[in-house]
Order: sequence, then structure tokens, then C-alpha cells
Amino acid sequence: MSQTTNIMGISFPNVTMDQTVAILSHVVEQRRTELFHVITGNPEIVMSCQKNRTLRAVVDQAGLVTADGAGIVMVSRVRGGQLTERVTGCDLLFRLLEEGNRKRWSFYMLGAEEHVSERALEVIEQNYPNVVVSGRHHGYFSTDEEQQIVEEIRDANPDFLIVALGAPNAEQWIDKYRHQLNARVAIGVGGSLDIVAGKTKRAPALWQKLNLEWLYRLLSQPSRWRRQLILPRFAVRALLFREQK
Ligand code: UDP
Repeated sequence: MSQTTNIMGISFPNVTMDQTVAILSHVVEQRRTELFHVITGNPEIVMSCQKNRTLRAVVDQAGLVTADGAGIVMVSRVRGGQLTERVTGCDLLFRLLEEGNRKRWSFYMLGAEEHVSERALEVIEQNYPNVVVSGRHHGYFSTDEEQQIVEEIRDANPDFLIVALGAPNAEQWIDKYRHQLNARVAIGVGGSLDIVAGKTKRAPALWQKLNLEWLYRLLSQPSRWRRQLILPRFAVRALLFREQK
């Protein structure tokens, strides 16, 4: 059985959420100096990779690409792949905070608006008292400010750098500074800090189970409709995709 599933040229290791957490636990325990970049691969990232070679190189180099998005798992099923469950950035973040609370891991949180970042920190401190938040910074900074933020992260030396700048900015940002960040693991988590802070709500479990999270997001944030047009386009292209020889 293959260990990976190919979706439009992107290689997704066939890992469950439990396996992902175990892999990352191992990476943290090894205390490697090289940054381990986790990409939560959703249809938007897979589609962007078809045109954007720089992003494609970032994804190809990542330590792990997980199946974020029901569309990825569905396409895998139809095409005989082995992806069995979604590993979304948001679920992964909550699982890592739980595990981090047991193992006293440290996290640096980059991204989201200032008040959201501040509130997310309070929520984490309240619910995961053994987690060390070694720093945080909002996500609305200029290019000139980046070096200072990178230095702050480097001095914080976190186990996990959580980057909530939206995709694919987060992935590109992590890659740009990967040799300077001094973190064990870095993950782009989209709008997850908004969820931690309670600014936006996650779709109820039943909607997620029925693969309708996209509909819930559309109903609660109608301004996203344009971005969501990519989902049917992704489904058609991914189902018809032929690898170029
Ligand atoms: N964001 C940010 N800086 C920016 C643009 C966006 O910190 O310049 C944050 C935004 O506040 C939100 C997240 O990035 O918390 C993006 O959320 P979205 O739901 O759009 O991301 P997705 O999950 O769709 O990638």
C-alpha cells in the first residue's frame, strides 16, 4: 500500500490526526535544529500550487502535508487514494495544545488582529495552564517590521510556531525565514486564532461530519463566496487530473 496519496501533483502522506500528533511529538522530542514545516493542505493551496511554482516548491519541501478540507479526502476516496480523515489546521492546533498541556510545550502565536491575538492568549492560558506561550504578535505588520518579529521568535525558541496569516501567506512567510526562526515545528493555521479567541465559530460537529463545513462558513461569512468558488473548480480538476509524464 502506498504511503502517500497524490492530489494534483501534491503528495499527501496518509496520516490520521493521531499519527500527525505522534510525528510532531517525536520531532519536538528530538530537538532538531532544522525547522519542521507542516502544511495543512486545503483545496486553495493545491490549486495555487498549479500556477505558483514558488509555493509548489515550499509545499514539496515541507516535512508533512496534511489533508485539510473535506474536498481533499473526497477526491482521495474517488481516485482510490488512502487519505481517511481530515487533519485541519484548527483541529491540529487544539490537539497540540492538549498534548502541549501534558508535555509543557511552548508556542509562539503569530497572526490575527491584535485584540484577537490577545484574547487567544488569555483563552490558552486559562484552558491549557501548562502550555508555555513564549510570545505572540498580531498579523498586520509591514515588511520593515518582519526582521524584528523574526528575532523575537528566534529568541523565544518555541517548540511550535503557529502562524495565522491566511493561506498561502503563512506558508510562504514560514519558508522565507525557515533558517532563522529557531522553532522545532511551524504550522500555518489559517483563521484558527479567530476560533480560539471566539471571534468566529467552528461549524457544529454534525455539519463537519456531513462534509458541510464549507456551507456553514459561507452562511456565517457570506463575503467568502468568491473564495469558495474555488471548491467546485478544485473538485472537477482534481478528479480529472492526469499526471504529466
Ligand atoms: N491575517 C493576518 N494578517 C493579514 C491577513 C490576515 O493576520 O495580513 C489573519 C486574519 O486576521 C485571520 C487569518 O489571517 O485570522 C486568515 O483567516 P482566513 O479564515 O481567511 O484563513 P483561511 O483559514 O481561509 O486560510
